[in-house]
Amino acid sequence: MKADLHLHTTCSDGRLSPEALVLAAARAGLSAIAVTDHDNTDAVAEAMAAVAERGLKLEVVPGVEVTAMRGDTELHILGYFVDPRAPGWQEAMARARREREQRAAAFVAKFAAHGIRLGLDAVQRHAGDGAIGRPHVARALVEAGACGTEQQAFDRYLNPGCPTFVPRGGMDPKEAIALIHAAGGVASLAHPRSVPLSEPDAKGETLLAYLVACGLDALEVIHPSATSMLRAHYARLAAENGLLVTGGSDDHGPRPGHPSRIGDLSVPYSWLAALGARRPRSTGEVSANYAGPLRESFYNGTIKQRSQSQ
Ligand code: AMP
Ligand code: ZN
Ligand code: FE
Ligand code: FE
Repeated sequence: MKADLHLHTTCSDGRLSPEALVLAAARAGLSAIAVTDHDNTDAVAEAMAAVAERGLKLEVVPGVEVTAMRGDTELHILGYFVDPRAPGWQEAMARARREREQRAAAFVAKFAAHGIRLGLDAVQRHAGDGAIGRPHVARALVEAGACGTEQQAFDRYLNPGCPTFVPRGGMDPKEAIALIHAAGGVASLAHPRSVPLSEPDAKGETLLAYLVACGLDALEVIHPSATSMLRAHYARLAAENGLLVTGGSDDHGPRPGHPSRIGDLSVPYSWLAALGARRPRSTGEVSANYAGPLRESFYNGTIKQRSQSQ
């Protein structure tokens, strides 16, 4: 039994709808997936509903990928088993998405100052209802003819170091981990290769030690960015620090010239079971209602709220 614990949908910068994602996952032979959109848990309910409607044999785990900042370092914290109805959860996600909106507007303003004409509405059209991000800016730039490919858009305009780069704000990883725990979830550090995990700060504390002290539960050891040597390294770090291990494809759906990676990278189902066992003991009524995997009825409230607001 295989699981992919890192996947995006149109509720953030992925290209597959939640329904298309579960169909692709089932086709790829996965037993379980975690839907982990950036700063958004709306896809979870839709994915669970699609699984139920189509009678798929696929477990959908509620997930999220929260962006956090520690100094200049951007960290992505994956949350699993989060309850979207937990007090404060939706507010925190909405705050993070507002910050994303502001950043998208700041990119557009900076482009204008550099003679690149791009409308914010074009970027917003690519994001739809989902959490807006740089990939949507990249798609709008390609559409406007400012560059040939999305990769070029990142290389020329969107990566740190580019004259038009806009740094981001965000919560400290301590806050992100606490938020995930408060919503009944467990927290894993996404693609650790992207952060200086073992570098000591001014006080001599490494980022990893800080995250462990903040209550981090796991490290993402399987990710397209991790070579087999790095996997072994992260697995050792996890074991040494009492952390669990997670992994997934970080698939964002197929795009021109790049097929979907769903099913290419997976982890044993036992990793997911271990994560489930590490969930914080629920204190509130809301978390007590969540009885484990495939309780799509639990999320129906979220679906109704969403369709009512449309
Ligand atoms: P944001 O959350 O707005 O900073 O956008 C981050 C997302 O952009 C990541 O999750 C990736 O999907 C994508 N991304 C980041 N860096 C690159 C890059 N150099 N090339 C292509 N996509 C990237
Ligand atoms: Zn992304
Ligand atoms: Fe990420
Ligand atoms: Fe991701």
